Amino acid sequence: MHNSQEFDLLITGGSVIDGSKAPRFRADIGVRNGRIAAIGDLSHCQGAQRIDASGKIVAPGFIDSHTHDDQAVLSQSDMSFKISQGVTTVITGNCGISIAPLRAGTPLPAPLSLLEDTGETRFDTFRSYLDALRARPSAVNVAAMVGHSTLRVMTMDSLEREARPDEIRAMNALLEEALDAGAIGISTGTYYPPAAHATTQEVIDVCRPIKGSGALYVTHMRDEADKSMESLEESFLIGRELDSPVVISHHKLQRAHNFGKSAQTLARIRHAMQCQCVALDCYPYNASSTMLHRDPKRLGGRILISSSKPHPEQAGRDLDAIAADWGVTKEEAAARLQPASAIYFGMDEGDVRNILAFDETMIGSDGIPTGEKPHPRLWGTFPRILGHYSRDLGLFDLEVAVWKMTGLTARNFKLDGRGTLAVGHHADIVVFDAATIRDTASYEAPAEPAQGIDAVIVNGVLTWRCGQHMGARAGEVITRHGAGS
Ligand SMILES: [Zn+2]
Repeated sequence: MHNSQEFDLLITGGSVIDGSKAPRFRADIGVRNGRIAAIGDLSHCQGAQRIDASGKIVAPGFIDSHTHDDQAVLSQSDMSFKISQGVTTVITGNCGISIAPLRAGTPLPAPLSLLEDTGETRFDTFRSYLDALRARPSAVNVAAMVGHSTLRVMTMDSLEREARPDEIRAMNALLEEALDAGAIGISTGTYYPPAAHATTQEVIDVCRPIKGSGALYVTHMRDEADKSMESLEESFLIGRELDSPVVISHHKLQRAHNFGKSAQTLARIRHAMQCQCVALDCYPYNASSTMLHRDPKRLGGRILISSSKPHPEQAGRDLDAIAADWGVTKEEAAARLQPASAIYFGMDEGDVRNILAFDETMIGSDGIPTGEKPHPRLWGTFPRILGHYSRDLGLFDLEVAVWKMTGLTARNFKLDGRGTLAVGHHADIVVFDAATIRDTASYEAPAEPAQGIDAVIVNGVLTWRCGQHMGARAGEVITRHGAGS
């Protein structure tokens, strides 16, 4: 019945894992005008372009639920570190930090400084940021959030205190502008110095405009170590007050004496899910990465330097070794390296596996696309789940692994028409080899593309093929359903 059909692109002979957790099935996929036009036996159809997917898996393009790609989608618009993994959509503006709105010339405190390499373009409205992305598309789709810490930097003369009522009103106005432009939510990062003085009430008051909008409240919690349970309660309370879905970002348990507590936190999260809308994401590594801290309490354990503005030659070295070379304390070495980012080996692999295997956990890279020696999660997250954790360790079936990076994520972030392979959906598609897919990025050599990704298609446009970027920039700006754009 498809005899007369012509497609822009035909993907033939593959096993389709459609992103819904359903078992794989054998089918061809026809793409026309950027959308999936047919799924089934299309062996008698014509395609202007054809991909033979025999022996391969055909899946929805992966959605990176947790990124800091706000600036990278403009300044590194090929987005090879994501496209090469099969990622076709990124959620930006996490951990309280977004690149918009920010005024030109405003100094950026860490961790906001992680978002950009240079003080280049600034966007003083959220709409101007999204418009810039529309004018110069990236290789991936972008769904953007606004960051609470960014709003604080925009409106407060001191970050060392709770916001005053007039400052909260100013932040409300900026948030309303962002929501109207199409922001899909607001993120907070009360763990970090720029927002550490924000009280629970400040967060509720600042985020008030999301109430009833369908936008999400996404949080890098105040504490992921000794006070994880209290931080979960705070996050759930804020979600209830705002009547909004809560996303617990990069769920983890830090410091050795908290190892094993994921059993408790996940039980609490599961219980909360019965009463309110809660989601969570996780990256598949037992080391974290963020700004290099100054607080001695946050300088325990092995710390690997990722980047340092004054000392780029120290990237890839341990803080202990640098301190020894310089004949100074760890704290002094950390101070001299600023501004800097680092990798912290402070998690238990058992907790990581427990959290990844939790049925509601989405996959997000939390990759930081700056610096000489980024955390390998920037290039390796998605193939590491499919290869190492699903195939090699058997932590979950491949269908579940794919769902955690596609259908589940699209559902939680309300990305209509993406995340599952269905007729009418946007043609974001990845073809990979289940037998050979693996991450190759390591702490020593982090900027290495995955193996086993055959083809990546973004909105119907072939963007990655057999280890090569095809040069396409077919990404779209995804705005919140119902927002003016
Ligand atoms: Zn974070």
